[in-house]
Amino acid sequence: MMPPDNYPASHPSYAPLEDRPFICDLCSLAFQRQHDLKRHRDTHKGEKPHMCNGGCGKTFTRKDALKRHQVGHTILSTFRPAADKFPE
Ligand SMILES: [Zn+2]
Ligand SMILES: [Zn+2]
Repeated sequence: MMPPDNYPASHPSYAPLEDRPFICDLCSLAFQRQHDLKRHRDTHKGEKPHMCNGGCGKTFTRKDALKRHQVGHTILSTFRPAADKFPE
């Protein structure tokens, strides 16, 4: 997952990878703070076993909810590449 070349380096969600030393061993998402990784890791266990593999890290309790969400990725990346919001 690479940021666009012209993306402002100061944007918080696009910190350079070398500034994100905390990497999830389950899905390889990287985080700047251990707290964020810890919170993220909690999403892997328990009640929400269906995780989006589209890079957003969202998890869902039901497979059909995940499927509907992933359709949103496809539509948004096709028609609205700059969109930063995905349907739940
Ligand atoms: Zn993860
Ligand atoms: Zn997603």
